[in-house]
Amino acid sequence: MSTDSSKPRHSTPGKPGRDFIAGYLRDIPRSGIRDFFDIVSSRKDVISLGIGEPDFVTPWHIRQKAIHALEQGATTYTSNRGMLELRQGISRYVRSQFGVEYNPETEILITVGVSEALDLAIRAIVNPGDEVLYHEPSFVSYAPEIRFAHGIPVPVPTRREDDFRLTRAMLEEKVSPRTKALLINFPTNPTGATLTRADVEGIAEFTKAHDLILITDEIYSELTYEGDRVSIAAIPGMKERTIFLHGFSKGWAMTGFRLGYACAPEELSETMMKIHQYIMMCAPILSQTAAIQALTTTSDTESMRASYKERRDFICAALNQAGLPCHTPKGAFYVFPYIGDYGLTSKQFALRLLEEENVACVPGSAFGACGEGFLRCSYATDISRIREATVRIGRFAERLRRNHRSAP
Ligand code: PMP
Repeated sequence: MSTDSSKPRHSTPGKPGRDFIAGYLRDIPRSGIRDFFDIVSSRKDVISLGIGEPDFVTPWHIRQKAIHALEQGATTYTSNRGMLELRQGISRYVRSQFGVEYNPETEILITVGVSEALDLAIRAIVNPGDEVLYHEPSFVSYAPEIRFAHGIPVPVPTRREDDFRLTRAMLEEKVSPRTKALLINFPTNPTGATLTRADVEGIAEFTKAHDLILITDEIYSELTYEGDRVSIAAIPGMKERTIFLHGFSKGWAMTGFRLGYACAPEELSETMMKIHQYIMMCAPILSQTAAIQALTTTSDTESMRASYKERRDFICAALNQAGLPCHTPKGAFYVFPYIGDYGLTSKQFALRLLEEENVACVPGSAFGACGEGFLRCSYATDISRIREATVRIGRFAERLRRNHRSAP
């Protein structure tokens, strides 16, 4: 066998496989959350306010449906788009809750979580070099997902003084002739921010004025506690340029089912479907069956929302009292207190809090540069643990203040 000496070699003797990795992937860092939780998992008896998932088990009637389907032998693929009965249920749900009409035959695609839907949406629209705007602090996947599609992530910083809302004026500062799309997520992970009706209208006007596609990640929508709940997709003239992403992980406590969906005008939906059929075939049949059941009532979501709201009120008061000022988030299950006056970076603060008091919170910097100076605390955990965690955080903060004062 002969080798072609003119072909560049990918491997280096002594470093097997090193250069097999695609170059652009080397520049994408691991998630800051994962780094932090590697440290957390090496410790015992940690109270974690770090996890971004509901502490509820999926309601029994939903689990029962999946169990029953398995007993009946539901072990096959479904159609690529997902089960029609589920798409019809989603169409009814989105119309009644968000005021937008999607055709279940051509405009709804069932995916493996919002995670897959997000990947499909971005890949369906981004050409290499296209810029995608998104607001920061943000969910850790947004910038990497845009880069996987060879797009350029353009963060739009939001501020504590504005309750981390996004306005048209902030967007106008970052838009360029290369901007293709805007990605938004309200209520927001990690700040819990929501928008007013005026904000939503301003963002819609901005999107139309610059002829952009809008991707809206609605995963926390059901967990909105007060204020306006206006879906941008329902604003006149927006449906045709919007990709609406949603799923069952948060509002229905179904993270392990890995089920989400993308609603979009037919041509966009068909393009996402093209990618989905090759990379995923379909979402798991048992999860789809469970989701059909999940959509039969809104009462599970309502009782979980009431419980999160109670915990939100408790944790906000306790953190403010402990000297970690936080705005009151109107949605999701996170608070984002300010810790910038303690003379530590958010990573140092989180690490010392873990080492000294065994409480895990995620450093705000994991969610983008403007998250520096903050911590993300999830209150999707038992209230007695939240109470104990806030006592420990208060003790830690008091120690830091004393040492700060006595510093030369
Ligand atoms: N979007 C946001 C804002 C999230 O916080 C998450 C999960 N933490 C996801 C999308 C992904 O959700 P899933 O894939 O479970 O539907």
